[in-house]
Amino acid sequence: PVLRTPLMAGNWKMNLNHLEAIAHTQKLAFALTDKDYASVEVAILPPFTDLRSVQTLVDGDKMKIKYGAQDISAHDSGAYTGEISGPMLSKLKCTYVAIGHSERRQYHGETEEIVNAKVKAAFRNGVLPILCVGEGLDIRKAGEQVGYTLAQLDGALAGVEAKDAERIVVAYEPVWAIGTGEVATPEDAQEVCGAIRARLAELYDQELADSVRVLYGGSVKSSNAAGIMAKPDVDGALIGGAALDAEEFVKIVRYRD
Ligand code: PEP
Repeated sequence: PVLRTPLMAGNWKMNLNHLEAIAHTQKLAFALTDKDYASVEVAILPPFTDLRSVQTLVDGDKMKIKYGAQDISAHDSGAYTGEISGPMLSKLKCTYVAIGHSERRQYHGETEEIVNAKVKAAFRNGVLPILCVGEGLDIRKAGEQVGYTLAQLDGALAGVEAKDAERIVVAYEPVWAIGTGEVATPEDAQEVCGAIRARLAELYDQELADSVRVLYGGSVKSSNAAGIMAKPDVDGALIGGAALDAEEFVKIVRYRD
């Protein structure tokens, strides 16, 4: 059996200014112990304006928490007003960047081509993508969640070589479960997470597929995390709302307890 270290990643979305981010990160730092870090990788994805503050805390406290951004430009520099580049994130020592979150696809017109270019920009700059995929309610009702989500995966990975793809994290986030309180059942999560792993084996090989972490995201809380994590192809969670409550986030990290 392949050992995949579970990843619990908190997506703060557009919440917490840099002062609030410092307070929140310190709460996590006080609560999390070496025992937690030994069995689970913990990451936070704050807004861009918080990243420098978070970096300073993490350096100073030798915290083992990792951090990353919620988006990245497809371009490395130039006349792209308002954008944040891969070299900038890399300079801030971001480990991860979320790419293709449904809110960006929905409200910011991110197409498959854009998501693919952003995945390449992240790898080019040594920042690891947490690639978000997942179907909306209409697709789920039609029973087409697997085909739809795999098409998003294919699009995002077009032209991405195995040496990069082996370091990606994929987050299956059914849109109807994000921020709605309506969590997918563990079986729903397993169905699509398992299909994602099988597709990675087709696109690359089984060894790569077995080493990539596939997360579930959508209304994960401490009360439902263990059930979802019990599924063989679910290797962690992307957590939105519940990541804004430090105690609750720590409980999710300790889903085994
Ligand atoms: C998310 O935004 O990635 C997410 C999963 O949000 P929530 O946990 O609030 O559903």
